[in-house]
Amino acid sequence: MPTMNEVKSRPVAALAAYYPLEIGGERVDALSGKTFPVINPATGQTLCEIAEGDAADIEAAVAAAEKAAPAWGGMSPLQRAEILNRAAAILAERMPSFVEIEVAQTGRPIREMKAQLARMPEWYSYFGAVARTYESSVPPFGGSYVNYTRRKPIGVVGLVTPWNHPLLILTKKVAPALAAGNTVVVKPSEIAPITPLMLADVLRDAGLPDGAYNVVPGFGVAAGASLCDHPRIGKLDLTGGTETGRKVAAMAGEKLIPFSGELGGKASVVVFDDVPEQEAVAAALFASFVAAGQTCVQGARLLVQRNIYDKVVELLVKRTDALRVGDPTDPRTQMGPLVSARQLAIVEKYVEIGRQEGATVAAGGERLTDGAFANGFFHAPTVFTDVTNDMRIAQEEIFGPVVCVMPFEGEDEAVTLANGTPFGLAASVWSRNVARAHRVAERIDAGIVWINDHHRIDPSSPWGGFKDSGIGKENGIVCYEGYTKLQSVVVNLSDETFDWFADDETEKRYS
Ligand code: NAD
Repeated sequence: MPTMNEVKSRPVAALAAYYPLEIGGERVDALSGKTFPVINPATGQTLCEIAEGDAADIEAAVAAAEKAAPAWGGMSPLQRAEILNRAAAILAERMPSFVEIEVAQTGRPIREMKAQLARMPEWYSYFGAVARTYESSVPPFGGSYVNYTRRKPIGVVGLVTPWNHPLLILTKKVAPALAAGNTVVVKPSEIAPITPLMLADVLRDAGLPDGAYNVVPGFGVAAGASLCDHPRIGKLDLTGGTETGRKVAAMAGEKLIPFSGELGGKASVVVFDDVPEQEAVAAALFASFVAAGQTCVQGARLLVQRNIYDKVVELLVKRTDALRVGDPTDPRTQMGPLVSARQLAIVEKYVEIGRQEGATVAAGGERLTDGAFANGFFHAPTVFTDVTNDMRIAQEEIFGPVVCVMPFEGEDEAVTLANGTPFGLAASVWSRNVARAHRVAERIDAGIVWINDHHRIDPSSPWGGFKDSGIGKENGIVCYEGYTKLQSVVVNLSDETFDWFADDETEKRYS
């Protein structure tokens, strides 16, 4: 059993009792007057109330974003970069409040949130720099022509985000969308909408024009669907589950607008026998249990070469049982609760499915309810062995602290197993053999492969999945380009009149 770390009900200094919507540079109540609560997953208590947006509020937010589009999109890239750089500096100054709120609304340990959020300002400065330095191309058109391209803002972009990394995932979308000159309407997760609202103050204070950044919290079926179905949105970008992705992509398809979806995952951590067992286990613990397993790139499947399998399992179980689970505000806590009662129920359901499928619970396997855990949504970090690749626990996204360990013989089997799910977001390959590590990475059908590491990210490094894990990329120049419309301008340099229908019998260029 994991070590219990007492859950205290500390006051959250940076928290307000109520958060209105952010529309057109103003804080406004929902037109319906409705609100909904945000729950602290560690204690089960209500943190605050949030204005509950629906279709009418989305309409107002889109109108505000449209109004702001000419001013923001018309600024030079240098002006936009300066504002984004100021936003980076202000965000860095206010980081302690963001960390405190992120811990309270997600239940993720303060150690994780400090480390993750400290890097957020980099996204604003990176994408400001991309806007500032982006050079268009001059394609080799041929003949007496010059052809150049230019990138234009799309207009109003709809951003729909999840609860697991509320500020990180929003930042990955907002920074490039704004850098490229778009205005945005954000529908954050109903479970963790506070930091997306706090970001509005940062951007306003940095000089972003009113209405360029709008936030309408609310539920997926109401505010989310209204935003995605809105006729005047120019692009949709969602991070969420694969089923939500299919629905939003279908709405984008109806309107013939671009869609980018960062969706579900079931990443494999592939460990070859030349890696010391202690190192393999440290890798697996981080990949599987950071964020209580609630990350899209969670190492949900640990594939271990057979001759070190028993030793790795033994050490993994020992270290899993020793993890300190508990109060996320305590810097010593290593794993917090799941984000909600619903997420806890999903994890419990899958653990039961795993048992019924014949897998062995080697560590954890149950909800934690004793004493300090009583009111929160805690589940023990769980290790399954005797898993086969066809089991549901090996195939379906659980999004919780559950890892399935499976052995493999050699490279071919490792690759077959790693590719043997409907998902293709990420994987990691662990080996001292450089040639083998690169060879296996190339054969893995996933959008991101780490070699001798897991879950590393940088604003410059493209992020996005294959197969059921989504379409499109976050991060990097490719993401910036995804927030633009590419215009091709073809210039005829000839002084001669072109008359296709003249009866002069000369051979003329047709295309
Ligand atoms: P979710 O799909 O339930 O919700 C995501 C967002 O979509 C929320 O804001 C929600 O309100 C909204 N939404 C739900 N239904 C909608 C609809 N019909 N129309 C419009 N919007 C709708 O996902 P979640 O539970 O918040 O997040 C967990 C999921 O996100 C996991 O599947 C995880 O793998 C995925 N995820 C992917 C990445 C990635 O980079 N690929 C990163 C983080 C999370």
